Amino acid sequence: MERIETHSAEETYEFGRKIGQGAQPGEVYTLIGDLGAGKTVFTQGFAAGLGIAEPVNSPTFTILQIYDDGRLPFYHFDVYRIGDASEMDEIGYEEYFYGDGVCLVEWANLIGELLPPVHRSVTIEKDPAQGFDYRRITVEERGRI
Ligand code: ADP
Ligand code: MG
Repeated sequence: MERIETHSAEETYEFGRKIGQGAQPGEVYTLIGDLGAGKTVFTQGFAAGLGIAEPVNSPTFTILQIYDDGRLPFYHFDVYRIGDASEMDEIGYEEYFYGDGVCLVEWANLIGELLPPVHRSVTIEKDPAQGFDYRRITVEERGRI
């Protein structure tokens, strides 16, 4: 388990970049946090860490955005607006989750039962008592025995 506290978007971006630099083929990252927590900021850093130069945004109306210009293929899922699991079947999610690129899934809690048993979970939390720009980011291995 790795935990960091950040006090600006830049710091969260930098932490994302560090995690992206260490990402390995076949890894799936889940990203959980409320609206405005910093998921997109983290993801932009993460993509930069994979060597992706293309701009990365929240793929609000597409569940999956693919970036091929980094050191590994990057599959950015945002499942916020997913109706039911069949939409994941339609895009053939298993090919990505169990492939050789790197997946990052925003709002992964909404598709809990479809997640690979082994993944890395990233949680971004606010704490109003610590100030408006404070975030606590936790990275944990899930499912590894
Ligand atoms: P999400 O994708 O989780 O809805 P965004 O990444 O789009 O959230 O937005 C996060 C907002 O919070 C941005 O406006 C960013 O500037 C601001 N912010 C303030 N402090 C931080 C911090 N420590 N880490 C990340 N974002 C922060
Ligand atoms: Mg976002």
